[in-house]
Amino acid sequence: MARKFLVLGEVRDGSLRNVSFEAIGAAKLAADGGEIVGVLVGDSVQDLGNELIQFGADRVVAVENDQLKQYTSDGYAQALLAVIEQEKPEGIFFGHTALGKDLAPKLAGKLESGLISDVTSIEEEGGNIVFTRPIYSGKAFEKKIVTDGVIFATIRPNNIEPLAKDESRSGDVAALSVDIKDLRTIIKDVVRKASEGVDLSEAKVIIAGGRGVKSEDGFEPLKELAQVLGGAVGASRGACDADYCDYSLQIGQTGKVVTPDLYIACGISGAIQHLAGMSNSKVIVAINKDPEANIFNVADYGIVGDLFEVIPLLTEEFKKLKV
Ligand code: FAD
Repeated sequence: MARKFLVLGEVRDGSLRNVSFEAIGAAKLAADGGEIVGVLVGDSVQDLGNELIQFGADRVVAVENDQLKQYTSDGYAQALLAVIEQEKPEGIFFGHTALGKDLAPKLAGKLESGLISDVTSIEEEGGNIVFTRPIYSGKAFEKKIVTDGVIFATIRPNNIEPLAKDESRSGDVAALSVDIKDLRTIIKDVVRKASEGVDLSEAKVIIAGGRGVKSEDGFEPLKELAQVLGGAVGASRGACDADYCDYSLQIGQTGKVVTPDLYIACGISGAIQHLAGMSNSKVIVAINKDPEANIFNVADYGIVGDLFEVIPLLTEEFKKLKV
């Protein structure tokens, strides 16, 4: 049964986040040949509409307003409610990002609809759209359907393939004027933590360090390997608690949940709370000098050794492959 779905194109620093293209791929699976409408919200975003179309949206609705220059849940909710009112979709998909996790439940609550968060796959079964999501820190998966109201879903990054970009696709990018009023949050200034390189939650390759890295300087070989592989550096809570790195790098139950193509765990013991954030990575490599370390139970490849000897050797080998 063909259905209409909206997908929010999430914009960061003037570009669309990759997870938005994955959310279009997810919406295609759910729509069963129906229409996919991209939605853009901001102060100057309409130009990004074509990119959403090239990744599979049929057309785009853009809400531009000076008051939407910075994200506020109030402002974005007003914009999206106006788009939902105009389009009357069966569902609306977001990335499972800080923005999506904030906005989707707010809208679902306002419309008294169901929300399925952290979706990792979608299938059609007997006319129902079946959403799969991890539970119990990734130890099990549950399947859910929404029986009533607009379907809200957040899509976990790096799980559902985006469609291949097709530069020959074209479609309508229409402006929708929305009067944004009574904002309860006014953003005065945004101060960014200086972040190096690739965004952890969307990275295809992650080199993560644990307490075995031993110091802030101990992260340097990991950073070099990450640079050679075009990846990001992550950490266990053990490393963050020891002040070897910032908490923004923490992966796990109380940190970020990541699903890269390649996860290299260096000097990480593999506590259950850490596994909750990375065990769904496609290929896991563990480097640990303790052959009994629990991380080897989830690793596809294990290297028993001192990370300060092993990582430079790997970096040199990968450098050779690149030239
Ligand atoms: P350790 O357990 O100390 O392991 C260090 C490892 O490094 C050891 O296996 C050792 O053999 C190895 N090693 C040492 N030197 C070398 C070397 N030179 N070369 C190679 N290997 C070496 N943890 C998280 O990571 N993320 C979370 O989100 C998280 N949330 C938590 C929530 C709660 C409520 C609680 C109670 C705990 C949470 N933890 C979390 C903490 C978790 O239980 C562990 O304490 C933590 O993951 C341990 O970090 P680690 O593996 O780096 O350190």
